[in-house]
Amino acid sequence: MFVGVKQLFVRFSKCNLNCIYCDTQKNSKICKDFVNNRTLRNPVSLGYIIDVMRSVKVHSVSWTGGEPLLYADFIRNVEKVHPFYLESNMTLPEKAKILRDVVDYVAGDFKVREAIPNENYEEVFENTVRCFRILKNTKRRFTFCKVVLPSSFDFEGVVECVEAVERYISSVVLQPVFGVENVKILMKLQDKLLDVCDVRIIPQVHKYLGLR
Ligand code: SF4
Repeated sequence: MFVGVKQLFVRFSKCNLNCIYCDTQKNSKICKDFVNNRTLRNPVSLGYIIDVMRSVKVHSVSWTGGEPLLYADFIRNVEKVHPFYLESNMTLPEKAKILRDVVDYVAGDFKVREAIPNENYEEVFENTVRCFRILKNTKRRFTFCKVVLPSSFDFEGVVECVEAVERYISSVVLQPVFGVENVKILMKLQDKLLDVCDVRIIPQVHKYLGLR
């Protein structure tokens, strides 16, 4: 929903899921600071991150991953130099509570069953709905749902995901994994979900830009 705005990404390396399309590096020993073109050893101090934040002019700081909710206590302690934008897999409701009063934007995933074949999907589904309830869209927070679609997915399964959280979100982004060919199905899905809320089809822009 915010394609094109300038953001500072703080990218954590670990995650509690293992999606089939994941492109997150697993090496957590090294931290690359692309603002200052430096390589540091983890863990990077709170003070260092705040200094980098202060040095840039951005729309928001995107806490992303990996899974940033694993680091909810850390994020909560960071001085809010810019608005906070949480990009999460939305499966850790107890951690979400820690950031309930802190984040200004939430780009929350709703994982489709095909993306996480090794997980207990019913449990993931229930936790996701809980997370969206905790971090719901309000006058002070903009929350939207992102559904990343692998090349094959269950149409009705996606509808079920969106309907389960529709009252907690402003809008939906359908994001086909780079290279998905069946555009007609995507547009049919968009049509169906437009009965529920604003729905946009947005590709994985960082891949077009050649960024990680
Ligand atoms: S939730 Fe995100 S970081 Fe975690 S495994 Fe899935 S794609 Fe990777």
